[in-house]
Amino acid sequence: MKAQGPKAIVFTDWDGTVTLQDSNDYMTDTLGFGLKKRKDVAQLMLNEKLSFRDGFREMLQSITDNHHSLEDCIEVLLKNIHIDPGFKSFLEWCRSNNIPLYVISSGMKPIINALLKNYMGEKDESYISIIANDAKTDPNDKYKWEIVYRDETPFGHDKSRSINKILSCYKESKPMVFYCGDGISDLSASKCCDVLFARSGENLVTYCNRQNIPYEEFSTFNDIKKKISETMEELN
Ligand SMILES: [Mg+2]
Repeated sequence: MKAQGPKAIVFTDWDGTVTLQDSNDYMTDTLGFGLKKRKDVAQLMLNEKLSFRDGFREMLQSITDNHHSLEDCIEVLLKNIHIDPGFKSFLEWCRSNNIPLYVISSGMKPIINALLKNYMGEKDESYISIIANDAKTDPNDKYKWEIVYRDETPFGHDKSRSINKILSCYKESKPMVFYCGDGISDLSASKCCDVLFARSGENLVTYCNRQNIPYEEFSTFNDIKKKISETMEELN
């Protein structure tokens, strides 16, 4: 008998989607060069005068320039970054329905891991696969650390490339693909999915409207759970 693949698969952005605040912006504003300079850098990236890869590296460099180790950053983030109130029950629901859940992020793995561990508990945390950039710390100087990008693209991590690679493993019985996001980095990923969820009131909604990309708006992961569950029932 052939093994039955999952009927659905969920990919989600991390910052501003699973978390309510963007952890990298928060670190830059409070420990790095601050809100004003960050907005200037963001504007350059938006106008394509600066790649995401270089802009993001500049933001993180300003944190190390101010002598904050990665552990310092994680400590601050654990106190100040909140997770979507529906995410934990969404994750449990995915697990009980055999729906794989992937975090696809431009952020850094050690930070995502620390936040997940803190909010979810080990059993839930281990259900999620994290595809993100990494970080490297100088073993002799904890204040010297930097991001390690996943690929050579101007994004540092091309989300659509990661998603397509995962989807190629499910060729036999293609599952329904859902993607959840909030910002511009989620646009490329939106092309790989059947249903795109965009966080209400955030940039992704604006971009989708501008480019006529269909999407479902969500306020919490409870909305996402409801919509996926309805969609799956219709398919049965
Ligand atoms: Mg985001």
